[in-house]
Amino acid sequence: MYDHLIRATAPGVRGFAAITTDLTEEARKRHDCFPLAAAALGRTMTGALLMAANLKTAESLTIRISGDGPLGEIVADAYPDGSVRGYVKNPFVDLPLNNGKWAIGQAVGKGHIHVTRFVGLKQPFTGSSELISGEIAEDFTQYLTMSEQTPSSVALGVLINPDTTVSAAGGFLIQALPGAEEDVISKIETNLSQMQPVSQMVHKGLDARGILETVFSGLPTTVYDSINLHFNCKCSRERVENMLISLGKEEIKEMVAEGQAEVCCHFCSEKYHFNAQELKNILEKLAAPQAR
Ligand SMILES: [Zn+2]
Repeated sequence: MYDHLIRATAPGVRGFAAITTDLTEEARKRHDCFPLAAAALGRTMTGALLMAANLKTAESLTIRISGDGPLGEIVADAYPDGSVRGYVKNPFVDLPLNNGKWAIGQAVGKGHIHVTRFVGLKQPFTGSSELISGEIAEDFTQYLTMSEQTPSSVALGVLINPDTTVSAAGGFLIQALPGAEEDVISKIETNLSQMQPVSQMVHKGLDARGILETVFSGLPTTVYDSINLHFNCKCSRERVENMLISLGKEEIKEMVAEGQAEVCCHFCSEKYHFNAQELKNILEKLAAPQAR
Protein backbone atom coordinates (compact mmCIF):
# COMPACT_ATOMS: atom_id res chain seq x y z
CA MET A 1 0.00 0.00 0.00
CA TYR A 2 1.38 3.41 -1.02
CA ASP A 3 1.39 6.24 1.52
CA HIS A 4 -1.76 8.26 1.11
CA LEU A 5 -4.12 10.69 2.84
CA ILE A 6 -7.87 10.91 2.63
CA ARG A 7 -10.43 13.44 3.81
CA ALA A 8 -14.00 12.71 4.86
CA THR A 9 -16.87 14.56 6.48
CA ALA A 10 -19.77 13.58 8.70
CA PRO A 11 -22.44 16.12 9.76
CA GLY A 12 -20.59 19.05 11.38
CA VAL A 13 -17.30 17.16 11.56
CA ARG A 14 -14.32 16.72 9.25
CA GLY A 15 -11.62 14.08 9.37
CA PHE A 16 -8.28 13.32 7.74
CA ALA A 17 -6.42 10.02 7.90
CA ALA A 18 -2.99 9.12 6.55
CA ILE A 19 -0.85 6.05 5.97
CA THR A 20 2.80 7.12 6.28
CA THR A 21 4.77 3.88 6.60
CA ASP A 22 7.05 4.40 3.58
CA LEU A 23 7.87 8.04 4.22
CA THR A 24 8.66 7.30 7.88
CA GLU A 25 10.98 4.51 6.74
CA GLU A 26 12.57 6.90 4.22
CA ALA A 27 13.22 9.44 7.02
CA ARG A 28 14.57 6.72 9.32
CA LYS A 29 17.06 5.59 6.67
CA ARG A 30 18.13 9.09 5.66
CA HIS A 31 18.81 10.17 9.24
CA ASP A 32 19.95 6.75 10.46
CA CYS A 33 17.44 7.09 13.37
CA PHE A 34 17.32 4.74 16.32
CA PRO A 35 13.81 3.20 16.68
CA LEU A 36 12.55 5.63 19.32
CA ALA A 37 13.71 8.65 17.28
CA ALA A 38 12.15 7.16 14.12
CA ALA A 39 8.83 6.74 15.96
CA ALA A 40 8.89 10.32 17.27
CA LEU A 41 9.82 11.75 13.84
CA GLY A 42 7.19 9.60 12.09
CA ARG A 43 4.49 10.84 14.46
CA THR A 44 5.52 14.47 13.94
CA MET A 45 5.64 14.21 10.13
CA THR A 46 2.27 12.44 10.07
CA GLY A 47 0.70 15.15 12.26
CA ALA A 48 2.18 17.82 9.98
CA LEU A 49 0.70 16.16 6.87
CA LEU A 50 -2.73 15.84 8.49
CA MET A 51 -2.74 19.55 9.34
CA ALA A 52 -1.34 20.56 5.93
CA ALA A 53 -4.17 18.70 4.17
CA ASN A 54 -6.41 21.64 4.99
CA LEU A 55 -4.12 24.29 3.44
CA LYS A 56 -4.46 25.94 0.04
CA THR A 57 -2.14 24.96 -2.83
CA ALA A 58 0.72 27.44 -2.34
CA GLU A 59 0.68 27.27 1.46
CA SER A 60 2.73 25.11 3.80
CA LEU A 61 3.40 24.62 7.48
CA THR A 62 6.26 23.82 9.81
CA ILE A 63 5.86 21.92 13.07
CA ARG A 64 8.52 22.24 15.75
CA ILE A 65 8.33 20.03 18.82
CA SER A 66 10.77 21.77 21.16
CA GLY A 67 11.26 19.75 24.32
CA ASP A 68 14.08 19.60 26.84
CA GLY A 69 14.48 15.80 26.55
CA PRO A 70 17.34 13.89 24.89
CA LEU A 71 15.79 13.90 21.38
CA GLY A 72 16.12 17.68 21.08
CA GLU A 73 13.98 19.53 18.59
CA ILE A 74 11.84 17.60 16.08
CA VAL A 75 10.97 19.56 12.93
CA ALA A 76 8.65 18.73 10.02
CA ASP A 77 7.63 20.77 6.96
CA ALA A 78 4.47 19.65 5.18
CA TYR A 79 2.68 20.78 2.03
CA PRO A 80 -0.92 20.22 0.90
CA ASP A 81 0.38 18.32 -2.18
CA GLY A 82 1.36 15.51 0.20
CA SER A 83 5.10 16.13 0.49
CA VAL A 84 6.84 16.25 3.83
CA ARG A 85 10.37 16.45 5.16
CA GLY A 86 11.66 16.35 8.70
CA TYR A 87 14.45 15.66 11.13
CA VAL A 88 15.10 15.06 14.79
CA LYS A 89 18.07 16.84 16.32
CA ASN A 90 19.48 13.76 18.08
CA PRO A 91 18.52 10.64 16.10
CA PHE A 92 20.71 8.33 18.22
CA VAL A 93 18.54 8.26 21.34
CA ASP A 94 17.48 5.05 22.98
CA LEU A 95 15.43 4.68 26.19
CA PRO A 96 13.99 1.54 27.79
CA LEU A 97 10.40 0.72 26.85
CA ASN A 98 7.72 2.03 29.21
CA ASN A 99 5.00 -0.66 29.70
CA GLY A 100 5.94 -2.07 26.30
CA LYS A 101 5.66 1.34 24.60
CA TRP A 102 8.24 3.80 23.30
CA ALA A 103 9.09 6.33 26.02
CA ILE A 104 8.56 9.17 23.55
CA GLY A 105 7.14 11.56 26.15
CA GLN A 106 10.25 11.14 28.24
CA ALA A 107 12.54 11.47 25.20
CA VAL A 108 10.79 14.69 24.08
CA GLY A 109 10.54 16.20 27.55
CA LYS A 110 8.85 19.44 28.54
CA GLY A 111 8.52 22.40 26.21
CA HIS A 112 6.33 23.67 23.40
CA ILE A 113 4.83 22.76 20.08
CA HIS A 114 5.17 25.56 17.53
CA VAL A 115 3.13 25.64 14.33
CA THR A 116 4.13 28.10 11.60
CA ARG A 117 1.80 28.61 8.65
CA PHE A 118 3.21 30.03 5.43
CA VAL A 119 0.32 31.60 3.58
CA GLY A 120 1.32 33.18 0.28
CA LEU A 121 2.73 36.70 0.44
CA LYS A 122 1.58 37.43 3.97
CA GLN A 123 3.94 37.16 6.93
CA PRO A 124 4.15 33.59 8.26
CA PHE A 125 2.08 33.11 11.39
CA THR A 126 3.36 31.06 14.35
CA GLY A 127 1.18 29.73 17.15
CA SER A 128 2.38 27.69 20.12
CA SER A 129 1.18 25.73 23.08
CA GLU A 130 2.81 23.89 25.92
CA LEU A 131 3.56 20.20 25.44
CA ILE A 132 1.03 18.10 27.39
CA SER A 133 2.88 14.80 27.47
CA GLY A 134 5.51 14.91 24.71
CA GLU A 135 3.73 11.91 23.17
CA ILE A 136 3.08 14.21 20.18
CA ALA A 137 -0.54 13.25 19.26
CA GLU A 138 -1.84 14.73 22.53
CA ASP A 139 0.31 17.78 21.96
CA PHE A 140 -1.19 18.34 18.49
CA THR A 141 -4.68 17.91 20.00
CA GLN A 142 -3.95 20.46 22.71
CA TYR A 143 -2.49 22.94 20.20
CA LEU A 144 -5.46 22.71 17.81
CA THR A 145 -8.06 22.87 20.56
CA MET A 146 -6.51 25.64 22.66
CA SER A 147 -4.42 27.72 20.27
CA GLU A 148 -6.54 27.43 17.14
CA GLN A 149 -9.82 26.95 19.06
CA THR A 150 -10.94 23.99 16.93
CA PRO A 151 -11.98 21.04 19.10
CA SER A 152 -9.85 18.21 17.69
CA SER A 153 -8.77 14.66 18.25
CA VAL A 154 -5.42 13.48 16.89
CA ALA A 155 -4.01 9.94 16.87
CA LEU A 156 -0.52 9.15 15.58
CA GLY A 157 1.31 5.84 15.65
CA VAL A 158 4.47 4.15 14.41
CA LEU A 159 5.38 0.46 14.74
CA ILE A 160 9.00 -0.59 14.34
CA ASN A 161 10.16 -4.07 13.27
CA PRO A 162 12.73 -5.99 15.34
CA ASP A 163 15.28 -5.23 12.58
CA THR A 164 14.59 -1.47 13.27
CA THR A 165 12.84 -0.81 9.95
CA VAL A 166 9.40 0.83 10.05
CA SER A 167 6.56 -1.69 9.99
CA ALA A 168 3.51 0.62 10.07
CA ALA A 169 2.85 4.33 10.49
CA GLY A 170 -0.21 6.51 10.22
CA GLY A 171 -2.69 8.70 11.99
CA PHE A 172 -5.88 10.68 11.88
CA LEU A 173 -7.19 14.13 12.76
CA ILE A 174 -10.88 14.71 13.55
CA GLN A 175 -12.24 18.24 13.97
CA ALA A 176 -15.64 19.52 15.10
CA LEU A 177 -16.85 22.45 13.00
CA PRO A 178 -18.93 25.28 14.44
CA GLY A 179 -22.46 24.01 14.99
CA ALA A 180 -21.53 20.33 15.22
CA GLU A 181 -24.32 18.44 16.97
CA GLU A 182 -23.81 16.89 20.37
CA ASP A 183 -25.08 13.41 19.38
CA VAL A 184 -22.62 13.30 16.42
CA ILE A 185 -19.73 14.22 18.73
CA SER A 186 -20.72 11.64 21.32
CA LYS A 187 -21.07 8.91 18.65
CA ILE A 188 -17.52 9.71 17.45
CA GLU A 189 -16.24 9.70 21.03
CA THR A 190 -17.75 6.24 21.54
CA ASN A 191 -16.18 5.00 18.29
CA LEU A 192 -12.78 6.43 19.29
CA SER A 193 -12.93 4.75 22.71
CA GLN A 194 -13.56 1.36 21.08
CA MET A 195 -10.82 1.62 18.44
CA GLN A 196 -7.44 -0.08 18.45
CA PRO A 197 -4.31 2.07 18.41
CA VAL A 198 -3.91 3.57 14.92
CA SER A 199 -0.52 1.87 14.36
CA GLN A 200 -2.24 -1.52 14.87
CA MET A 201 -4.95 -0.60 12.37
CA VAL A 202 -2.31 0.29 9.76
CA HIS A 203 -0.37 -2.86 10.59
CA LYS A 204 -3.49 -4.95 9.94
CA GLY A 205 -3.73 -3.44 6.47
CA LEU A 206 -6.49 -0.85 6.95
CA ASP A 207 -6.14 2.07 4.52
CA ALA A 208 -6.89 5.71 5.33
CA ARG A 209 -10.48 5.34 4.14
CA GLY A 210 -10.97 2.32 6.41
CA ILE A 211 -9.64 4.27 9.40
CA LEU A 212 -12.05 7.18 8.81
CA GLU A 213 -14.96 4.82 8.23
CA THR A 214 -14.21 3.29 11.64
CA VAL A 215 -14.08 6.73 13.30
CA PHE A 216 -17.34 7.82 11.61
CA SER A 217 -19.03 4.41 11.95
CA GLY A 218 -22.82 4.78 12.24
CA LEU A 219 -22.81 8.33 10.78
CA PRO A 220 -23.57 9.44 7.21
CA THR A 221 -20.09 9.99 5.78
CA THR A 222 -18.76 11.58 2.59
CA VAL A 223 -15.29 10.44 1.55
CA TYR A 224 -13.18 12.55 -0.83
CA ASP A 225 -10.32 11.67 -3.20
CA SER A 226 -7.07 10.45 -1.72
CA ILE A 227 -3.69 12.08 -2.35
CA ASN A 228 -0.32 10.35 -2.37
CA LEU A 229 2.18 11.19 0.34
CA HIS A 230 5.96 11.17 0.08
CA PHE A 231 9.14 12.28 1.80
CA ASN A 232 10.40 15.06 -0.43
CA CYS A 233 13.02 17.67 0.43
CA LYS A 234 13.13 20.97 -1.46
CA CYS A 235 16.90 21.29 -1.19
CA SER A 236 19.04 21.35 -4.34
CA ARG A 237 22.63 22.04 -5.33
CA GLU A 238 21.55 25.44 -6.64
CA ARG A 239 19.97 26.39 -3.29
CA VAL A 240 23.05 25.25 -1.39
CA GLU A 241 25.23 27.31 -3.76
CA ASN A 242 23.07 30.37 -3.09
CA MET A 243 23.44 29.73 0.62
CA LEU A 244 27.24 29.63 0.21
CA ILE A 245 27.14 32.88 -1.78
CA SER A 246 25.18 34.50 1.05
CA LEU A 247 28.03 33.65 3.46
CA GLY A 248 30.23 36.16 1.59
CA LYS A 249 33.70 36.22 0.03
CA GLU A 250 35.79 35.77 3.16
CA GLU A 251 34.02 32.56 4.23
CA ILE A 252 34.34 31.08 0.74
CA LYS A 253 38.03 32.05 0.52
CA GLU A 254 38.57 30.06 3.72
CA MET A 255 36.84 27.07 2.17
CA VAL A 256 39.05 27.38 -0.94
CA ALA A 257 42.08 27.39 1.35
CA GLU A 258 40.78 24.22 3.00
CA GLY A 259 40.48 22.70 -0.48
CA GLN A 260 36.81 21.71 -0.24
CA ALA A 261 33.48 22.18 1.48
CA GLU A 262 30.64 19.82 2.32
CA VAL A 263 27.15 20.99 3.19
CA CYS A 264 24.66 18.56 4.68
CA CYS A 265 20.92 19.30 4.48
CA HIS A 266 19.35 19.06 7.97
CA PHE A 267 16.03 17.94 6.57
CA CYS A 268 17.10 15.03 4.38
CA SER A 269 20.80 14.40 5.18
CA GLU A 270 21.72 14.89 1.51
CA LYS A 271 25.40 15.87 1.27
CA TYR A 272 26.54 18.52 -1.22
CA HIS A 273 30.25 18.48 -1.92
CA PHE A 274 32.17 21.38 -3.47
CA ASN A 275 35.81 21.02 -4.56
CA ALA A 276 38.29 23.89 -4.64
CA GLN A 277 37.62 24.70 -8.29
CA GLU A 278 33.85 24.81 -7.74
CA LEU A 279 34.35 27.11 -4.77
CA LYS A 280 36.58 29.36 -6.90
CA ASN A 281 33.81 29.52 -9.50
CA ILE A 282 31.40 30.67 -6.79
CA LEU A 283 33.92 33.35 -5.74
CA GLU A 284 34.12 34.54 -9.35
CA LYS A 285 30.34 34.85 -9.47
CA LEU A 286 30.51 36.96 -6.32
CA ALA A 287 33.22 39.17 -7.83
CA ALA A 288 31.37 39.65 -11.15
CA PRO A 289 29.34 42.85 -11.48
CA GLN A 290 25.66 42.30 -10.79
CA ALA A 291 23.54 41.83 -13.88
CA ARG A 292 20.91 44.52 -14.39
ZN1 LIG B 1 17.32 18.31 1.84
